[in-house]
Amino acid sequence: MLTEILTDQQLIDLYTTPGYLVAVNYPKKEVKLHTIDCMLADPISSVGVKPSKARAQKTGEFWVSESREEANSKAEEIAKKKQYTYIICPICNR
Ligand SMILES: [Zn+2]
Repeated sequence: MLTEILTDQQLIDLYTTPGYLVAVNYPKKEVKLHTIDCMLADPISSVGVKPSKARAQKTGEFWVSESREEANSKAEEIAKKKQYTYIICPICNR
């Protein structure tokens, strides 16, 4: 099931659950696919995504799915619709 992530806490709570994160960065015009346990998908990490802030500032959106296929389809759909670049994160890609 695909779930939209609206807050940092929502993502923090999912950290130990296997799954995938679709991170959309509006200013960078970029859609990135991560595993949920990637450090770049961790709001607690200084380099991690910050869904609460992105939502407040309208700079991005985030989706989570247990299925890589489903996350991948969502990422491709957004990238195509917005004409953003779709990147599979090189750090957590597996
Ligand atoms: Zn990653």
